[in-house]
Amino acid sequence: MTKAIQIDKTDEGQTVTVTDVTFEPLAEGDVAVDVAYSTLNYKDALAITGAAPVVRKFPMVPGVDFSGIVRESKHPEFKAGDRVVLNGWGVGEKHWGGLAGLAQVKADWLVHLPDSISLRQAMAIGTAGYTAMLCVMALQANGLTPDKGEVVVTGATGGVGSVAIALLAASGFTVAAVTGRASEEPYLRSLGASSIVDREELAGKARPLNKERWAGAIDVVGGAVLANVISMMQYRGIVAACGLAGGMDLPTSVAPFILRGVTLAGVDSVMCPQADRVGAWKRLASDLDFTKLEEMVSEVALEDVVATAPKFLEGQVKGRIVVPVAPD
Ligand code: NAP
Repeated sequence: MTKAIQIDKTDEGQTVTVTDVTFEPLAEGDVAVDVAYSTLNYKDALAITGAAPVVRKFPMVPGVDFSGIVRESKHPEFKAGDRVVLNGWGVGEKHWGGLAGLAQVKADWLVHLPDSISLRQAMAIGTAGYTAMLCVMALQANGLTPDKGEVVVTGATGGVGSVAIALLAASGFTVAAVTGRASEEPYLRSLGASSIVDREELAGKARPLNKERWAGAIDVVGGAVLANVISMMQYRGIVAACGLAGGMDLPTSVAPFILRGVTLAGVDSVMCPQADRVGAWKRLASDLDFTKLEEMVSEVALEDVVATAPKFLEGQVKGRIVVPVAPD
């Protein structure tokens, strides 16, 4: 038995409790991991609050990611004592997730944690930070280099945005941070932002083409903000889109694509192939400034996760929230 957050659905609606859960014996190819840390991501907040149908099976243990130590393995790639990290693959949605003392998952979903990243740092990064890394890699794979011009990051004070700013600054890019929270300017500048853009500037209906401002973009917001960003990209600019914090729609036109050669690169962290994940975690180990990472982190106990989740939907989360489950 292990302590876990459990989401259940009854005729009266969704319930979320902190309770003891039991696991089936380990199947062939699976690995049991003693969870050291988990974290709260935007998707966990959707699952816990029930604001979107993230959970596909009940009862569910939420938590799309965790770091921990292998307890038992039925796969040759992992052995007891290995330090591992997991992001996505439907964990916390279809398979029991990381907000628990134990996780049992397919070996194919695990990544060996690079030696230089601690179990806590792995979840300070979490799925938000690993997705930020995938976004930076998408920009660079499409030819973006610092000399081409400024890179804009939306949802800047959030988890993906904060890590994206630190990673871009570490790679020599000049970063513009879009935020609805002007009071967080010192925080954003400390992460590496060179200029701050008021979210309101990008909130109205986007024109097909606008004044060219940015060579690259990482967007977590979607909706009008993403449409405005696309309309303001320089000739041959690259946009990495990964989020929907502001909406699912994309009220844009083909003009930026066919007249300015803008590239819209979609980024998905959940089903991302293993080689790219391993590459992203290696890059995080070498590129991320771990002092800056620490500035982004706050901690929430497992017992306080349910009360904290709504803050994501109110746009009130700053940086990354780590959940120490059984800290090292
Ligand atoms: P987060 O910490 O809540 O950050 C989102 C940020 O967006 C907020 O801090 C806020 O920043 C801004 N924001 C919030 N509501 C907004 C609104 N209505 N309009 C405009 N801006 C708004 O969430 P996160 O963990 O960084 O995740 C961000 C998004 O990326 C989510 O949609 C999440 O689902 C998505 N995501 C996708 C993947 C993937 O695999 N594709 C992986 C991870 C996350 P400011 O206050 O600074 O403006």
